[in-house]
Amino acid sequence: MFFAVRLDEGDIGLDSVWRCNVANQSTSKACLAHFASLAQGYGHTFLVASVLFHIPHSSRWIPDEWRSQFVLDDIELQRELITMTDSFTDELFDIGNSVDYLRFPVSRLLVDPERFPRDEDEPMASRGMGAIYTRTHDGRPLKSSGRSLELMNAYYHPHHSKLTEWTRRRLLTDDRCLIIDCHSYPSRPIPCDMNREPNRPDICFGTCHPHTPVELVAAAVEAFAEAGYSTAVDWPYAGTIIPLEFYGVDARVSSLMVEVNRKLYMDEKNGEKSESFDQTRIRVGNCLKAIVGNWTDR
Ligand SMILES: [Zn+2]
Repeated sequence: MFFAVRLDEGDIGLDSVWRCNVANQSTSKACLAHFASLAQGYGHTFLVASVLFHIPHSSRWIPDEWRSQFVLDDIELQRELITMTDSFTDELFDIGNSVDYLRFPVSRLLVDPERFPRDEDEPMASRGMGAIYTRTHDGRPLKSSGRSLELMNAYYHPHHSKLTEWTRRRLLTDDRCLIIDCHSYPSRPIPCDMNREPNRPDICFGTCHPHTPVELVAAAVEAFAEAGYSTAVDWPYAGTIIPLEFYGVDARVSSLMVEVNRKLYMDEKNGEKSESFDQTRIRVGNCLKAIVGNWTDR
């Protein structure tokens, strides 16, 4: 048996946290429990990193080899990237190494890992926005679907394999896990949105039965409300990611989507960070730590 441990000073608001990276599946729960009691004896909190921040839409990267699939010119493509990317969410949702992170490496315009893999199961496919987008946010042609299978094999399936494997391992060692699905959204509805109501909250939480405990949603609403943000649940966006293998069948896999209104941290026209970025990152980070702390303590 082998596992690595490191000390994070006050990373989630505790005096000290022992965090365990389970190196292989043979690390037994009894072993971890024994170590936890040892650590507690020295006044430390021991924590298996069973929380994953999933960041699917932060990348604007389209590798050169795929550029010819797009029918937009460079300026149009840049505009589409600004509208559709959850820009800077990899920084906004970075709360240090008390949790694990999984970031999708390329732009959602190439492949969207948040969609169901089969168009028959994906409501947005009717708008040309299934896992492989063929339409822009306002319904214009975006790219050819000719190499869809290649794209799914290059990006979609490897990403979901990582997500599934992380979940399997955490269930083995901790018997539960939490995925925070990290997004941002335009301050005003865009043409592809299902919900076109104009009054959007600062923060939107997405849930999925039976994977989102009501106590977790309550803790999330409370944390962000206390920080002065308006919130809504499953409005204007609903749902949260669950690895398909566990979807609807294993409630030990918890998941909550957290979406931040882009007006809080960026200029939505030019795609740059705004002056309030750092302040928002700190405030949002504290709220996320409160959510993680609530779940870890239960
Ligand atoms: Zn998103």
